[in-house]
Amino acid sequence: MRIGAIEAGGTKFICGIAETTYGQYGWEKPVIRESVSIPTTIPEITLQACLEFFSSAEPVERLGIASFGPVELDPLSPQYGFITTTPKPGWKQTDIVGFFKNALQIPVFFDTDVNGAVLSEHRWGNGRGLSDFVYITIGTGIGGGIMANGKLIHGAMHPELGHFLPQKHPQDVFAGLCPFHGACLEGLASGPAIAARWGIPGEKLPDDHQAWDMEAYYLAQASAMLAMTLATRRILLGGSVGMRPGIVEKARKILSPVLGSYLSWLDTQEAIESFLMNPLLGNQAGILGAAALTLD
Ligand code: ZN
Repeated sequence: MRIGAIEAGGTKFICGIAETTYGQYGWEKPVIRESVSIPTTIPEITLQACLEFFSSAEPVERLGIASFGPVELDPLSPQYGFITTTPKPGWKQTDIVGFFKNALQIPVFFDTDVNGAVLSEHRWGNGRGLSDFVYITIGTGIGGGIMANGKLIHGAMHPELGHFLPQKHPQDVFAGLCPFHGACLEGLASGPAIAARWGIPGEKLPDDHQAWDMEAYYLAQASAMLAMTLATRRILLGGSVGMRPGIVEKARKILSPVLGSYLSWLDTQEAIESFLMNPLLGNQAGILGAAALTLD
Protein backbone atom coordinates (compact mmCIF):
# COMPACT_ATOMS: atom_id res chain seq x y z
CA MET A 1 0.00 0.00 0.00
CA ARG A 2 1.16 3.50 -0.78
CA ILE A 3 0.62 5.98 2.03
CA GLY A 4 1.14 9.71 2.03
CA ALA A 5 2.84 10.89 5.21
CA ILE A 6 3.34 14.41 6.53
CA GLU A 7 5.47 15.22 9.53
CA ALA A 8 4.21 18.74 10.17
CA GLY A 9 6.75 20.58 12.29
CA GLY A 10 7.14 24.15 13.42
CA THR A 11 10.19 24.72 11.22
CA LYS A 12 9.59 22.28 8.37
CA PHE A 13 7.02 19.94 6.89
CA ILE A 14 8.41 16.64 5.68
CA CYS A 15 6.21 14.95 3.09
CA GLY A 16 6.89 11.38 2.08
CA ILE A 17 5.52 8.45 0.16
CA ALA A 18 5.60 5.40 2.40
CA GLU A 19 5.20 1.91 1.00
CA THR A 20 4.24 -1.02 3.18
CA THR A 21 2.85 -4.52 2.85
CA TYR A 22 0.82 -6.60 5.25
CA GLY A 23 3.01 -9.46 6.45
CA GLN A 24 2.92 -12.25 8.98
CA TYR A 25 3.30 -9.78 11.87
CA GLY A 26 1.05 -7.04 10.56
CA TRP A 27 2.03 -4.00 8.55
CA GLU A 28 5.72 -4.03 7.85
CA LYS A 29 7.93 -1.04 8.51
CA PRO A 30 7.27 1.26 5.55
CA VAL A 31 9.98 2.16 3.10
CA ILE A 32 10.04 5.89 2.35
CA ARG A 33 10.17 6.05 -1.45
CA GLU A 34 10.43 9.79 -1.92
CA SER A 35 10.34 12.69 0.45
CA VAL A 36 10.63 16.43 0.45
CA SER A 37 11.28 19.00 3.16
CA ILE A 38 9.25 22.20 2.98
CA PRO A 39 9.89 25.19 5.26
CA THR A 40 7.03 26.12 7.58
CA THR A 41 6.23 29.68 6.53
CA ILE A 42 2.53 30.47 6.27
CA PRO A 43 -0.21 27.88 5.65
CA GLU A 44 -1.10 29.18 2.17
CA ILE A 45 2.45 28.55 0.93
CA THR A 46 3.50 25.51 2.98
CA LEU A 47 0.30 23.48 2.52
CA GLN A 48 0.20 24.28 -1.18
CA ALA A 49 3.79 23.06 -1.61
CA CYS A 50 2.88 19.81 0.20
CA LEU A 51 -0.10 19.39 -2.07
CA GLU A 52 2.05 19.86 -5.17
CA PHE A 53 4.39 17.11 -3.94
CA PHE A 54 1.52 14.63 -3.52
CA SER A 55 -0.14 15.67 -6.76
CA SER A 56 3.02 15.07 -8.78
CA ALA A 57 3.84 11.72 -7.13
CA GLU A 58 2.07 8.42 -7.88
CA PRO A 59 -1.31 8.50 -6.11
CA VAL A 60 -1.50 7.43 -2.46
CA GLU A 61 -4.47 5.64 -0.88
CA ARG A 62 -4.44 7.44 2.47
CA LEU A 63 -2.74 10.35 4.11
CA GLY A 64 -1.41 10.54 7.67
CA ILE A 65 -0.50 13.86 9.26
CA ALA A 66 1.54 13.97 12.48
CA SER A 67 1.44 17.59 13.47
CA PHE A 68 2.87 20.13 15.86
CA GLY A 69 0.21 21.42 18.23
CA PRO A 70 -1.91 22.17 19.90
CA VAL A 71 -4.37 20.40 17.61
CA GLU A 72 -8.06 19.49 17.86
CA LEU A 73 -8.45 15.72 17.92
CA ASP A 74 -12.07 15.32 19.01
CA PRO A 75 -13.84 13.91 15.92
CA LEU A 76 -17.10 15.46 17.13
CA SER A 77 -15.68 18.97 17.28
CA PRO A 78 -16.35 21.29 14.31
CA GLN A 79 -12.66 22.13 14.56
CA TYR A 80 -11.45 18.53 14.28
CA GLY A 81 -8.23 18.47 12.28
CA PHE A 82 -7.28 22.05 13.06
CA ILE A 83 -4.03 23.37 14.43
CA THR A 84 -5.63 25.54 17.11
CA THR A 85 -4.01 28.02 19.50
CA THR A 86 -0.40 27.86 18.36
CA PRO A 87 1.74 30.97 18.92
CA LYS A 88 3.25 30.34 15.47
CA PRO A 89 2.33 33.36 13.32
CA GLY A 90 -0.32 32.64 10.69
CA TRP A 91 -1.09 29.11 11.88
CA LYS A 92 -3.79 29.78 14.46
CA GLN A 93 -7.03 27.92 13.60
CA THR A 94 -5.65 26.25 10.47
CA ASP A 95 -7.84 23.50 9.03
CA ILE A 96 -5.04 21.24 7.94
CA VAL A 97 -7.10 18.03 7.60
CA GLY A 98 -9.87 19.76 5.64
CA PHE A 99 -7.35 21.23 3.23
CA PHE A 100 -5.89 17.86 2.23
CA LYS A 101 -9.21 16.00 2.35
CA ASN A 102 -10.76 18.42 -0.11
CA ALA A 103 -7.77 18.52 -2.39
CA LEU A 104 -6.83 14.82 -2.50
CA GLN A 105 -10.23 13.18 -1.85
CA ILE A 106 -8.71 10.36 0.21
CA PRO A 107 -9.04 9.40 3.90
CA VAL A 108 -6.88 11.64 6.08
CA PHE A 109 -5.65 10.58 9.54
CA PHE A 110 -4.45 13.12 12.04
CA ASP A 111 -2.74 13.26 15.42
CA THR A 112 0.12 14.99 17.21
CA ASP A 113 3.69 14.42 16.05
CA VAL A 114 4.53 12.67 19.31
CA ASN A 115 1.47 10.41 19.17
CA GLY A 116 2.56 9.44 15.67
CA ALA A 117 5.99 8.61 17.03
CA VAL A 118 4.41 6.48 19.76
CA LEU A 119 2.55 4.46 17.14
CA SER A 120 5.62 3.99 14.93
CA GLU A 121 7.80 2.94 17.87
CA HIS A 122 5.01 0.60 18.97
CA ARG A 123 4.82 -1.07 15.57
CA TRP A 124 8.44 -1.05 14.48
CA GLY A 125 10.67 0.31 17.23
CA ASN A 126 11.51 0.14 20.90
CA GLY A 127 7.88 0.11 22.00
CA ARG A 128 7.16 -3.14 20.18
CA GLY A 129 5.15 -5.56 22.30
CA LEU A 130 4.55 -2.98 25.04
CA SER A 131 1.02 -1.93 25.95
CA ASP A 132 2.34 0.85 28.17
CA PHE A 133 5.13 3.23 27.24
CA VAL A 134 5.84 6.91 26.69
CA TYR A 135 7.71 8.76 23.97
CA ILE A 136 9.19 12.15 24.85
CA THR A 137 10.84 14.42 22.34
CA ILE A 138 13.28 17.00 23.66
CA GLY A 139 14.28 19.56 21.05
CA THR A 140 12.92 23.01 20.22
CA GLY A 141 10.11 22.16 22.63
CA ILE A 142 9.27 19.17 24.78
CA GLY A 143 6.30 16.99 23.99
CA GLY A 144 5.23 13.51 24.85
CA GLY A 145 2.84 10.82 23.69
CA ILE A 146 1.52 8.14 26.00
CA MET A 147 0.33 4.64 25.23
CA ALA A 148 -1.62 3.08 28.08
CA ASN A 149 -3.36 -0.30 27.95
CA GLY A 150 -2.43 -0.47 24.25
CA LYS A 151 -4.13 2.82 23.37
CA LEU A 152 -2.94 6.36 22.84
CA ILE A 153 -4.09 8.72 25.56
CA HIS A 154 -6.02 11.68 24.17
CA GLY A 155 -8.14 12.79 27.10
CA ALA A 156 -9.68 16.23 26.73
CA MET A 157 -7.09 17.19 24.07
CA HIS A 158 -3.74 15.44 24.20
CA PRO A 159 -1.12 15.19 26.93
CA GLU A 160 1.21 18.18 27.33
CA LEU A 161 3.74 16.54 29.55
CA GLY A 162 6.45 19.01 28.55
CA HIS A 163 4.69 21.53 30.77
CA PHE A 164 4.73 19.73 34.10
CA LEU A 165 6.59 21.53 36.89
CA PRO A 166 9.74 19.79 38.08
CA GLN A 167 11.79 20.64 41.13
CA LYS A 168 14.61 23.04 40.25
CA HIS A 169 18.14 21.67 40.26
CA PRO A 170 19.83 23.08 43.41
CA GLN A 171 22.42 24.88 41.27
CA ASP A 172 20.07 26.09 38.57
CA VAL A 173 19.51 29.86 38.75
CA PHE A 174 17.86 30.06 35.31
CA ALA A 175 14.25 31.31 35.55
CA GLY A 176 13.03 29.16 32.65
CA LEU A 177 11.62 30.40 29.36
CA CYS A 178 8.15 28.96 28.94
CA PRO A 179 5.88 31.95 28.21
CA PHE A 180 3.11 30.25 30.20
CA HIS A 181 4.92 28.71 33.19
CA GLY A 182 8.51 29.90 33.23
CA ALA A 183 10.21 26.96 34.88
CA CYS A 184 8.22 24.00 33.53
CA LEU A 185 10.08 21.08 31.96
CA GLU A 186 10.07 22.72 28.52
CA GLY A 187 11.08 26.06 30.07
CA LEU A 188 14.08 24.43 31.78
CA ALA A 189 15.17 21.52 29.60
CA SER A 190 14.33 22.23 25.94
CA GLY A 191 17.08 23.08 23.44
CA PRO A 192 16.33 26.83 23.60
CA ALA A 193 16.38 26.68 27.43
CA ILE A 194 19.84 25.10 27.41
CA ALA A 195 21.07 27.74 24.95
CA ALA A 196 19.58 30.58 27.01
CA ARG A 197 20.92 29.29 30.34
CA TRP A 198 24.51 28.79 29.18
CA GLY A 199 24.70 31.34 26.38
CA ILE A 200 25.81 28.63 23.94
CA PRO A 201 23.65 26.22 21.95
CA GLY A 202 23.67 22.67 23.32
CA GLU A 203 25.39 21.27 20.23
CA LYS A 204 28.45 23.33 21.11
CA LEU A 205 28.61 22.40 24.81
CA PRO A 206 31.18 19.68 25.62
CA ASP A 207 30.00 16.32 26.96
CA ASP A 208 31.47 16.96 30.42
CA HIS A 209 29.67 20.31 30.84
CA GLN A 210 27.44 20.73 33.89
CA ALA A 211 24.58 21.49 31.49
CA TRP A 212 24.13 17.77 30.85
CA ASP A 213 23.92 16.84 34.53
CA MET A 214 21.21 19.44 34.96
CA GLU A 215 19.45 18.22 31.82
CA ALA A 216 19.60 14.63 33.04
CA TYR A 217 18.20 15.72 36.40
CA TYR A 218 15.13 17.21 34.74
CA LEU A 219 14.61 14.26 32.40
CA ALA A 220 14.98 11.87 35.34
CA GLN A 221 12.27 13.80 37.20
CA ALA A 222 9.96 13.60 34.19
CA SER A 223 10.66 9.87 33.98
CA ALA A 224 10.04 9.34 37.69
CA MET A 225 6.80 11.30 37.50
CA LEU A 226 5.61 9.12 34.60
CA ALA A 227 6.70 5.94 36.36
CA MET A 228 4.74 6.99 39.45
CA THR A 229 1.59 8.26 37.75
CA LEU A 230 1.25 5.75 34.91
CA ALA A 231 3.32 2.76 36.05
CA THR A 232 4.46 2.90 32.46
CA ARG A 233 6.89 0.22 31.36
CA ARG A 234 9.27 2.23 29.23
CA ILE A 235 10.18 5.81 28.37
CA LEU A 236 11.83 6.67 25.08
CA LEU A 237 13.83 9.89 25.02
CA GLY A 238 13.91 11.28 21.49
CA GLY A 239 14.51 14.60 19.76
CA SER A 240 17.87 16.25 19.21
CA VAL A 241 18.59 16.67 22.94
CA GLY A 242 17.17 13.30 24.01
CA MET A 243 19.19 11.50 21.35
CA ARG A 244 22.43 13.24 22.27
CA PRO A 245 24.94 10.48 23.10
CA GLY A 246 25.27 10.01 26.84
CA ILE A 247 22.05 11.74 27.92
CA VAL A 248 20.03 8.57 28.50
CA GLU A 249 22.91 7.06 30.49
CA LYS A 250 23.13 10.16 32.69
CA ALA A 251 19.36 10.25 33.21
CA ARG A 252 19.38 6.55 34.19
CA LYS A 253 22.01 7.22 36.86
CA ILE A 254 19.98 10.02 38.42
CA LEU A 255 16.67 8.19 38.14
CA SER A 256 17.39 5.75 40.99
CA PRO A 257 18.05 8.43 43.63
CA VAL A 258 15.08 10.44 42.34
CA LEU A 259 12.83 7.39 42.73
CA GLY A 260 14.36 6.66 46.12
CA SER A 261 13.98 2.87 45.74
CA TYR A 262 10.24 3.35 46.02
CA LEU A 263 9.24 1.30 42.98
CA SER A 264 10.36 -2.29 43.45
CA TRP A 265 9.94 -3.06 39.74
CA LEU A 266 12.58 -0.42 38.94
CA ASP A 267 15.01 -1.50 41.61
CA THR A 268 17.73 -3.09 39.48
CA GLN A 269 20.21 -1.72 36.97
CA GLU A 270 18.73 -3.99 34.25
CA ALA A 271 15.24 -2.69 34.96
CA ILE A 272 16.37 0.94 34.70
CA GLU A 273 18.20 0.22 31.44
CA SER A 274 15.13 -1.35 29.95
CA PHE A 275 12.91 1.42 31.33
CA LEU A 276 14.76 4.44 29.94
CA MET A 277 16.12 4.31 26.40
CA ASN A 278 16.23 6.10 23.06
CA PRO A 279 13.66 5.45 20.33
CA LEU A 280 14.81 2.98 17.70
CA LEU A 281 13.55 4.82 14.64
CA GLY A 282 15.46 8.01 15.42
CA ASN A 283 14.99 10.66 12.76
CA GLN A 284 12.46 8.51 10.94
CA ALA A 285 10.08 8.31 13.91
CA GLY A 286 8.16 11.37 12.71
CA ILE A 287 7.50 10.44 9.11
CA LEU A 288 6.90 6.77 9.98
CA GLY A 289 4.61 8.03 12.73
CA ALA A 290 2.53 9.89 10.18
CA ALA A 291 2.31 6.70 8.11
CA ALA A 292 1.45 4.64 11.21
CA LEU A 293 -1.55 6.89 11.93
CA THR A 294 -3.23 5.51 8.82
CA LEU A 295 -2.80 1.85 9.83
CA ASP A 296 -4.80 1.56 13.08
ZN1 ZN B 1 5.25 25.51 30.13
